[in-house]
Amino acid sequence: MTGNGRAGAAAPSATDDGVQAVPGSAQLERVRGWIADAQRIVALTGAGISTDSGIPDFRGPQGVWTRNPAAEKQSTIQNYLADPDVRKAAWQARLRHPAWTARPNAGHEVLAELERQGRLHGLVTQNIDELHQRAGNSPERVVEVHGTVRRVMCWQCGERAPMESALDRVRNGEEDPRCLRCGGILKSDTISFGQALVPEVIERAMTLAGEADLLLAVGSTLQVYPVAGMVPLAARAGARVVIVNAEPTPFDELADAVLRGPIGVLLPAICA
Ligand code: NAD
Repeated sequence: MTGNGRAGAAAPSATDDGVQAVPGSAQLERVRGWIADAQRIVALTGAGISTDSGIPDFRGPQGVWTRNPAAEKQSTIQNYLADPDVRKAAWQARLRHPAWTARPNAGHEVLAELERQGRLHGLVTQNIDELHQRAGNSPERVVEVHGTVRRVMCWQCGERAPMESALDRVRNGEEDPRCLRCGGILKSDTISFGQALVPEVIERAMTLAGEADLLLAVGSTLQVYPVAGMVPLAARAGARVVIVNAEPTPFDELADAVLRGPIGVLLPAICA
């Protein structure tokens, strides 16, 4: 746990060295007290919250890009639009996407419970798997900054449709299904590399960060901007910042508490 010098910041402890936070320890109890007192919690989640559901992250030790750096390049929008072979491979990968069989885990369920208690002001997720909604968070409260893999969008006319019907077409032999309305290139309704974020969505995320009394960043390397900027923004606006992640992040020094260890253990422990 690291202190940022603001009122209420915890004294440095073992987690400064990356030692795992231990359930029942003094630092966990302190964070638990903060969360119990908070009325406007804003959660910021990344791929790490869904690894226990069987969806690998990108940059963690077993991440998709850690194991295969070329995969990052293949996910750029320029390659996708220019190369039919990249699209065909992408459709085959979508058929096998782990999201179709994944179920929410203990981490997702804790955030749904915070909403039921009326204390979750907002949930900003970088994930595209919709597991927060499946765990019980209301869609109105979830801000998906990178979109969702459960929809397709037409690059030409902007038409949106359920992913499942496009996947049925691929199963029936279409290697690169086109928009049924205009014939344009279809892709998942997610933000690829090189693709612009949706300004209104980012604005909503930043507004939430500025309104939080406690920002809970979970399972993200906090390396992707502008969303990572929610952390310093919330801190500047006076919120306590708690980071739960297995690995260090660039904002650990700024946070009031850094809990390193498994999300599936730590999140239930601090929110119970
Ligand atoms: P990331 O892959 O950059 O980092 C994930 C972090 O979570 C890593 O630091 C890793 O060590 C940690 N982590 C993984 N499992 C953990 C666990 N069980 N307990 C504790 N820590 C754990 O994730 P990111 O910052 O969200 O960025 C990757 C981008 O890729 C996201 O923006 C997202 O759009 C996309 N993505 C989404 C999904 C999904 O929807 N589930 C999966 C992979 C990637």
